[in-house]
Amino acid sequence: MSITKKLNQIKEAIPKEVTLVAVSKTQPETAIIEAYQAGQRIFGENKVQEMIAKQKNLPNDIQWHMIGHLQRNKVKYMASFVQLIHGVESFKVLQEINKQAQKHNRIIDCLLQLKIATETTKFGMQVQEAEKIINSEALINLKNIKITGLMGMATFTTDTATLNKEFTTLKSTFDHLKKIATAPNCKLQILSMGMSSDYKLAIACGSTMIRIGSSIFGNRN
Ligand SMILES: *Cc1c(COP(=O)(O)O)cnc(C)c1O
Repeated sequence: MSITKKLNQIKEAIPKEVTLVAVSKTQPETAIIEAYQAGQRIFGENKVQEMIAKQKNLPNDIQWHMIGHLQRNKVKYMASFVQLIHGVESFKVLQEINKQAQKHNRIIDCLLQLKIATETTKFGMQVQEAEKIINSEALINLKNIKITGLMGMATFTTDTATLNKEFTTLKSTFDHLKKIATAPNCKLQILSMGMSSDYKLAIACGSTMIRIGSSIFGNRN
């Protein structure tokens, strides 16, 4: 099946309030162009270098999301254009994003990545750390970033009960943090959870943004 067909199938299957991020990591630019021509504008990459290379060659109205694990020293390379950074794992990273965004006179939207999976390989912070960031006096001074939501990655499993538990936990954390957030640059609206294998369940559990790669572009090498 073509990329266009697969993209349209997913779009038809999800509520229109849910934002679809097409995860184009490792995919060639031709594949991105096909999705673009089918109307897709939001693409997610997990490596800064790869995202920069693609951004240079592809249409200007593409919104690039960084969905991968983020190294602080790479932030500067994407600060001029990145639309949303999903994987913020510490206050230090937020400070660096703020510093680089300031240089470009921009405000960069960020999601705090929460650890929801039991696997030790999954990145993210604990709820207490997120609370600390959201409540901190220092956050108010980061005028060039905005915390717009949370992101999480479930355990790599087909066990629905486990996935359901992890997504539900993240959703209640989201609701809780949303209530305690008072800083002007912290308004939790986006809950980024769900990938090719589990997005339907993620949406049922309250996801507002799904990150889909292989179900659109086929398997990665
Ligand atoms: C690769 C990736 C995805 C997409 O995974 P698929 O299973 O191909 O849909 C989503 N989120 C993150 C953080 C990823 O790295």
